[in-house]
Amino acid sequence: MIMVVNNISLKYLRSGVRLEATVVDKKGIQKDLYFVVSGLNKKFIQADASPFIPALLPSAMSQGENLKIEGSVSRNILVRQKKFQNKIAQWENSLKKVKVQAKAIDKSMEKGKRVGLFFSGGVDSFYTFLKNRRLGKNRVTDFILIWGFDIALDDGEFFGLVKKRIQTVARQVGINLIVVETNSKELSDNYVDWQWQVGGSLGAIALILKNYFRVVHIASATSKEDTAPFGSHPQLDPLWSTENMKIVHEANGCSRLERVCKYIANSEVALGNLRVCWKQVKGKYNCGLCEKCLRTMMELELAGVLSKTKTFNVPLDLERISKSVLPSSSVVFSKEVLKELLRKDEKPELQLAIEKQLLISWRPPVSYRAKEFVHNLDHKFNNDRLFWYLSAKGLL
Ligand SMILES: [Zn+2]
Repeated sequence: MIMVVNNISLKYLRSGVRLEATVVDKKGIQKDLYFVVSGLNKKFIQADASPFIPALLPSAMSQGENLKIEGSVSRNILVRQKKFQNKIAQWENSLKKVKVQAKAIDKSMEKGKRVGLFFSGGVDSFYTFLKNRRLGKNRVTDFILIWGFDIALDDGEFFGLVKKRIQTVARQVGINLIVVETNSKELSDNYVDWQWQVGGSLGAIALILKNYFRVVHIASATSKEDTAPFGSHPQLDPLWSTENMKIVHEANGCSRLERVCKYIANSEVALGNLRVCWKQVKGKYNCGLCEKCLRTMMELELAGVLSKTKTFNVPLDLERISKSVLPSSSVVFSKEVLKELLRKDEKPELQLAIEKQLLISWRPPVSYRAKEFVHNLDHKFNNDRLFWYLSAKGLL
C-alpha cells in the first residue's frame, strides 16, 4: 500500500509561484497538492520535493500507506521524519508508522538570510512578533500569511479582508508580507484530523521557503515544552528544519493572559488589528460572541484596553459569558482571568459572570451535550462542514 507523489513542478503565475505535485493514494485516487507563494522573488522557490513529506506524512500514516516521493529531498528531512513518526504514533494510535522513500537527495546548500514568522493576526502571533522585535540578530523580517488553513479556499471575500488588515500591520511595522495559498488542509482532510496535520503543513511551507529564510518562527499557543500532544508542537515542528534553515516553535513560559497584558495591551498596532475569531461570520473580522472572542475580550478588559481595541464591534456581553459552556481545554483561560480579577479586587460583575460560566461548564445542560454530540460527529465524519455552513449563516 503506497501513497505516491509525482509530477513535482513549478509554475510561474501572475499571482505568484506555484509548487505542485500529483498525489496518488492506495485506491488510485489522484489529487493535486499545491502551494502558491507571493511576496518574494521567484528565484527563491525550487521544484524541491522535501515539502511534500511533512505535507503528506500524517495522511499516509493514517492510511497505513508508505510514502514514495518521485523527487529529491533534503537528507535531514528524510532522517528526521522517522523521529516525527515515532513521536506522533505514540500520541495517536490511529497513526501507523510507514516507510518514506525518495528518488534522490537534494544537495543544494543555499543559505537564506531572512527571518520569518507565520502570522495570522492572533494573540500568539502578535505576541511572538512583539517579543522578537526586542531582539537584535533574530528580528522577524517577513510575515507568512496562509490562505487555506483557518480560512477556507472558497471564502475569498473573508481572506481578502484579513489580507488587507495584515498588509496594513506589515506596512506599519516595516515587515515584508509573504502570502501562501494552499489546498494542503483541504486534501489532508480526506485522510486525517487536521490537529495531527497542521504542524506538517506549516513545516511544508517553511521548506518551500528554505532558500529565503534562515529561521522560521511558529508562534506557540502554549507556554510549556511538554504540552499536550498536538500536530504543531515544540517537540515536532523543529524536526522539519534543514541543514540551513531552522524552525523554531518556542514555548517560553508566558501564559495567554500574560501575552495579552504585557505585550498586546501595549501595542497600538495589535489593538488595531487583532483577529481571534473562530467563526468567520460574513463580513466580520471578529464576531465578538464566540468562545474565543469572549475569552480574548475578557483578557483585554482585565488589561484595561478593551475600549481601545478596534476589532470587536460589540460590547463585552456578561450575560452571554455567564450562560456559555466552556470546552474543557478553555476552562484554564477563564480561571486565569478570574484569579487575576480576584487578586486585583476589580470588576465584580465580570467576576460573577466568570464564576457562573465555570459552574455551568462543570455540569453542562443536556441541550449543550446534545449539541456537542452533533458537533463531534460533524468533526469526525464531515470535516466540520455543518459547523462552517451554520457559522457562515450566523446561526451559531
Ligand atoms: Zn468570534
